[in-house]
Amino acid sequence: MITVTSPLLPNLDEFYDMLKDIWESKWITNNGSFHKQLEQELASYLKVPYISLFTNGTLPLLTALQAMRITGEVITTPYSFVATTHSLWWNGCKPVFVDVDPQTGNLDPDRIEAAITPKTTAIMPVHVYGKPCDTKRIQEIADRYGLKVIYDAAHAFGVEINGTSVLNAGDMSTLSFHATKVYNTIEGGAMIMKDEETKRRIDDLKNFGFHGETTVVAPGINSKMDEVRSAYGLLNLKQVDSAIAARKNVAKRYYDELKNVRGISFFPYLKDTFESDHLRYNYAYMPMFIDAEKYGLTRDELYLKMKESNVLGRRYFYPLISEFNTYKGCPGSEKSNLPVAHKMAESVICLPMHHALSQEDMDRILELIVK
Ligand SMILES: *Cc1c(COP(=O)(O)O)cnc(C)c1O
Repeated sequence: MITVTSPLLPNLDEFYDMLKDIWESKWITNNGSFHKQLEQELASYLKVPYISLFTNGTLPLLTALQAMRITGEVITTPYSFVATTHSLWWNGCKPVFVDVDPQTGNLDPDRIEAAITPKTTAIMPVHVYGKPCDTKRIQEIADRYGLKVIYDAAHAFGVEINGTSVLNAGDMSTLSFHATKVYNTIEGGAMIMKDEETKRRIDDLKNFGFHGETTVVAPGINSKMDEVRSAYGLLNLKQVDSAIAARKNVAKRYYDELKNVRGISFFPYLKDTFESDHLRYNYAYMPMFIDAEKYGLTRDELYLKMKESNVLGRRYFYPLISEFNTYKGCPGSEKSNLPVAHKMAESVICLPMHHALSQEDMDRILELIVK
């Protein structure tokens, strides 16, 4: 069986040594020493001013909206993992769906303004598959209308443009360290913010709103990362660069061997990432698009053919978030408003992509696709 992803796992002996330290200290959660160390090392690795660790990648989204008092309508993308929109729902906000750019799969800046109403308070874009959004234009629009921008950057770990982290865009960004992501702490996540005061506020909010021992400053939540997963995260951070390099080799081989197959295409930016010295990409996913007429099989037929041979692709992101019952009927959810997103959702298949994919496994996958 070849799975679509495989978690980056730390060396077990090294992990065991750190577990012994935790057992000796008996400090297993609540801002312990590994937690502090991981925040420092991540801030420096990611080139961001402030970071706050979370227990998963969904709670920092919820907490960011809460902390910024986002209400009313929020403009967002239907082409993402459903947690993006769930975070709006949990804050009582109304998602407003805007179509995506066919070149990147990201929120199309040309379509944002038409969706703004007097109730709009924020934009929540996603750097889908790790490809940065047009952050400059999104910020211009936000500034013009006085909107906040919160990026769901769950896919964008380590992504940089001209040496600057894409996580610095907007008012806040959030990361997921789930097992399936480029960098994982089993379950985990983080929020990136611009100033120390916001970091302190977020640190309070993720600990029930406690500021000190006896003062509760806000209706907080509990979403702290513990010492065991912080230790695991410290070990994985040491090997994430080599994991990204291995992913890049996998992406290159897929691209080279599939680029001339009739009916198969990739995002145009993919090719540029192989040579680019201005975009540091992370190869979080390997989305491939099928034109059924030219390829001879529909996307679903290829998906099932691969599955029958125990090669598991994933139809990320199908169905669109705007198609789930919970969000059908939200502003902008009509199919006619989202033609690009629908076309992508119906033609995309994410190929197996991880640091440990062997050449033999790739032989098998490629043979199935090329026929
Ligand atoms: C994975 C993911 C999340 C949620 O992260 P969890 O750590 O699983 O809670 C949110 N948004 C996007 C786009 C994701 O891919």
